Amino acid sequence: MKTLLGTLFLAVTSLSAFDYALKPVRVTSDVHCFFGKPEIMDKTNNGNIVNSCYIDAGEGYVVVDTGPSYLYAESAYKAMKKIKSLPVKLVINTHIHDDHWLGNNYFTEQSIRVLGTDDFKVNADMSEPTRMQTYISPEAYAKTKPTMPTEMISSDTNLTIGNQTLELKIAKRKAHTAKDMVVFLPKSKVLIAADLVFNDRLPSLRDGDINGWIEALGDLDKLGALHVVGGHGNRTDKDAARMTREYLTQMRSEIRAAIAEGLGIDETIKKVSMESYKQYKLYEQTHRHNVEASYRVLEWE
Ligand SMILES: [Zn+2]
Repeated sequence: MKTLLGTLFLAVTSLSAFDYALKPVRVTSDVHCFFGKPEIMDKTNNGNIVNSCYIDAGEGYVVVDTGPSYLYAESAYKAMKKIKSLPVKLVINTHIHDDHWLGNNYFTEQSIRVLGTDDFKVNADMSEPTRMQTYISPEAYAKTKPTMPTEMISSDTNLTIGNQTLELKIAKRKAHTAKDMVVFLPKSKVLIAADLVFNDRLPSLRDGDINGWIEALGDLDKLGALHVVGGHGNRTDKDAARMTREYLTQMRSEIRAAIAEGLGIDETIKKVSMESYKQYKLYEQTHRHNVEASYRVLEWE
């Protein structure tokens, strides 16, 4: 009996005790970020494949993206409180992919504002089970409830929170998704570029448009950021967008050349293999789909 109770106790505590054990990385004195692994979500990484950030606004934090689950959001905030014990004043969701916002209900249950674009109304997948729920462990997904932003915007907006001005900029057209929002801090020249910037793994064009994405990166360049934090990958200097820009630009010109030669989609996928990008993580999982999605856009030019 004693052993059975002991086993039950262990089972219950290990179920409730899942901990992402997230460690914040200092980007600038006012921005810390959590950097996910360059992997596809699974039951080992439990969705810790994405970046999220905390902006210190003096009187409180602004959180940019809430990660793949409730427990991720909780672990991140716990770690930030050790750096400086501040309340969260505002949460921002950069776009609708669920690795970026499934931690929302950790904040909404404390009545904290969550701001996203109106694309959530149109394209966010609020179904049960979510993609994340399907691929990560139930222990890691515990307490997660897909929760929409409490406020939605449709155009560029400047906000003042504490001692920070936040410039929220929305890509002019479909880029990585139908509406991608970035956060620029003019004071420290930090750009939280979300999934318009990937490095150390290949970007995903699954819901995007190659032309809009390249154009959006050009617009981001004009901000003059000194620190650029992408949605995936841990490079944060001012050239952190380089791999994404070069990859997309080379892919576009190779696909255009293939189309001009009269090649069909299958031949183009074979031809535009861009071997030098095999060194990046997720090449096998994403590259071919990226070429296919881009071909379908570029063949109409
Ligand atoms: Zn995304």
